[in-house]
Amino acid sequence: MRRKIIAGNWKMNGNVAFTRDYLSKFEQSLREKGLLASSDFQIVIAPPSILISEMKCSISDTSIEVAAQNVSAFDEGAYTGEISVSMLKDLACDWCLVGHSERRALFDETDAEVVKKVQQLLGKGIQPILCVGETLEQRDAGRAESVVAEQLDAVFLNEELVRSGELAKVVVAYEPVWAIGTGKTASPEQAQSMHESIRNRVAEKASSLAETLVILYGGSVNAANAQSLFAQKDIDGGLVGGASLKIDEFSSICEHVAQAK
Ligand code: PEP
Repeated sequence: MRRKIIAGNWKMNGNVAFTRDYLSKFEQSLREKGLLASSDFQIVIAPPSILISEMKCSISDTSIEVAAQNVSAFDEGAYTGEISVSMLKDLACDWCLVGHSERRALFDETDAEVVKKVQQLLGKGIQPILCVGETLEQRDAGRAESVVAEQLDAVFLNEELVRSGELAKVVVAYEPVWAIGTGKTASPEQAQSMHESIRNRVAEKASSLAETLVILYGGSVNAANAQSLFAQKDIDGGLVGGASLKIDEFSSICEHVAQAK
């Protein structure tokens, strides 16, 4: 049985007042739905790094965990503007997104940097959520699966990571780039097909990890499409951007994940 995970990515939105208000209302909504005490699924929220501390303090129920949206590939030192894994650890941050398509596209993040970040995170006991996904152009050219396979292989075949024995802690988020923030969701069949192919790829290359690998779907998930997406057998939860900023919407999505399968 794989754990179900629902993660909200606030992107570059929110402030201290929003964080406090959001958490008190969100927790209340989860309590009313009887979701807070549940142990078979995990709720994670990724605010901008500057709000992680506030979020940690505002969470009254420890069943909600906190993620960073990015981390430096470097340890420490003269890297102005960067935030290190040790700094995230110091804030008791539990998770970190790595290789989000906005970072790959807007900040030229490469697979090599993604690998370094995953190494840094696992070394300090923070769980990476590795984002993979193809552009529309790549999908139209019939390359969706090979593009995703390459992004996966960079991490799952990295010798140092394989040797570390820590790869079982990596969660994968399949996020087709054409579905992120566009309102165009992958159909449940399209998403299931890619999730299955991700599991098969990991099975081929790192067989012991495949069955327990948690694979999230991300890309314009909302309360209306959540149920059909999370009903798919290889979709173990979601990574939600825009809709995670709306308390009622995100709480409904959490409910769909909790009730799936
Ligand atoms: C995301 O930012 O990871 C995401 C999936 O965004 P959205 O849900 O807004 O498409």
